[in-house]
Amino acid sequence: TNTPATLVLLFGATGDLAKRKLYPSLYNLYEKGILSEQFAVIGIARRRLTHEQYRNWVKDSVETFGMPQEKIGKFIRHFYFQSHDVTDENSYRELKGLADELDEKYAANGNRIFYLAMSPEFFGTVAESLKEYGFTDTKGFKRLVIEKPFGWDLSSAVELNERIRSAFSEKEIYRIDHYLGKEMVQNIEVIRFANAIFEPLWNNRYISNIQITSGETLGVEERGRYYEKNGALRDMVQNHMLQIVSLLAMEPPIRLTTDEIRSEKVKVLRALHPIEKKDVHKYFVRGQYGRGIIGGKEVPAYREEPMVDPNSNTETFVAGKLMIDNFRWAGVPFYIRTGKRMQAKTLKIVVQFKDIPMNLYYRNGSSLNPNLLVIHIQPEEGITLHLNVKKSGRTMETTPVKLNFSNKNVDGINTPEAYEKLLYDILRGDATNFTHWDEVAYSWNFVDPISEAWAEEKADFPNYAAGTFGPKAADELLQRDGFFWWPIT
Ligand code: NAD
Repeated sequence: TNTPATLVLLFGATGDLAKRKLYPSLYNLYEKGILSEQFAVIGIARRRLTHEQYRNWVKDSVETFGMPQEKIGKFIRHFYFQSHDVTDENSYRELKGLADELDEKYAANGNRIFYLAMSPEFFGTVAESLKEYGFTDTKGFKRLVIEKPFGWDLSSAVELNERIRSAFSEKEIYRIDHYLGKEMVQNIEVIRFANAIFEPLWNNRYISNIQITSGETLGVEERGRYYEKNGALRDMVQNHMLQIVSLLAMEPPIRLTTDEIRSEKVKVLRALHPIEKKDVHKYFVRGQYGRGIIGGKEVPAYREEPMVDPNSNTETFVAGKLMIDNFRWAGVPFYIRTGKRMQAKTLKIVVQFKDIPMNLYYRNGSSLNPNLLVIHIQPEEGITLHLNVKKSGRTMETTPVKLNFSNKNVDGINTPEAYEKLLYDILRGDATNFTHWDEVAYSWNFVDPISEAWAEEKADFPNYAAGTFGPKAADELLQRDGFFWWPIT
């Protein structure tokens, strides 16, 4: 086994995230023999369940994902349940009793992970109570894991951070950004820093622009209430999209340690060209889906979804142009777009290289295709390099070809889910793929003027049909610079 003896206190044990991601990921780690037998989980939620009922809950959630099940009976014996309302002071004592008992039983050496898989409104309260009732007063390690969103703007994030920091040090806080757990996102670093042919070109002399597309075909589903308050800018751009930008743009770290990598990422976020409220329209586009057709089926408009205001001003799509004010990137636009009810579920990065100085193969007005490096993150994982070669035969014409690498072909097995990798990192105490407070703060600082400008002006929604890649204005954003979105297939 690779992971130390640990007691996990899982707040929000009956929630959607726990069911869909956390139990299956923990089971995968257990099944592979990576998880120590000295691990126990206390599931915490308001409803009353016996240990046995909770174990069946965990079993159901693992079975839904059709994994090999030989070890499932043994696995679920590591799970215990505590009914507990996190806002009720009285119930922390009982929880503490169970935690101490299990710590002893599993010889967990006081190692504790507190995973808050619940609504962010409770993050501050739980962290403070954990300190007040002595949970954090432990001889082993203590780690706090929190889900997104981290605040709603810079000032609420600062406030939340202060409450959390009263009980945990920055090193003990693991802010989840599940994009950072994705294999191909982690691969960005390797592609850049382990290949002699890319890093020398990775700057404004050779790259003309970079495009990042993150699309979902799903609509807002049951999350209308949450989404109405947040929208795509807060839900996707402030965290995931800016994280990808920082990985693409950072300087090579002097070492591959958590601190070195994070400090290079922070520098990118600090160098983002600030967008003033009055200029937002020049750099950012918002959209909201209307009715449309996805997979041959008619789907409703956002404003017709459950728990959504019929006049909602909330954006379900964002496109933006980011400039990075440093030597390496001055003049190179990073275009991002993300939305719900897009034409395809996809996460892709296209790096477009500049045209060569002179085209020797210019014939009848035909131009050469620029070289592209495409990093496919989702659904397929791999990279494609677009080159020009000679058309075969008695001609000197060129034709574009693609060099393709797909992760699946090599490994022969599915790469682990993001949450499995992230849980493994938390258990071992590796915070590299989690967001540091400085990153959170600089990201909000960049995003806040945009959301303020948008809040002040009613948008002309809906402005894109479900099943497309967003409003026309998102295309015009690139056309103004002489570019276009590369097709994502
Ligand atoms: P959920 O509403 O499905 O589950 C919330 C859980 O918290 C339930 O177990 C509920 O019993 C418990 N709970 C609520 N109030 C409580 C209280 N007062 N005391 C004790 N327990 C209480 O939420 P979710 O979708 O699982 O999301 C959890 C967190 O993860 C949120 O921060 C969310 O933003 C984040 N997140 C979720 C997903 C996802 O796929 N569901 C993805 C990314 C991030």
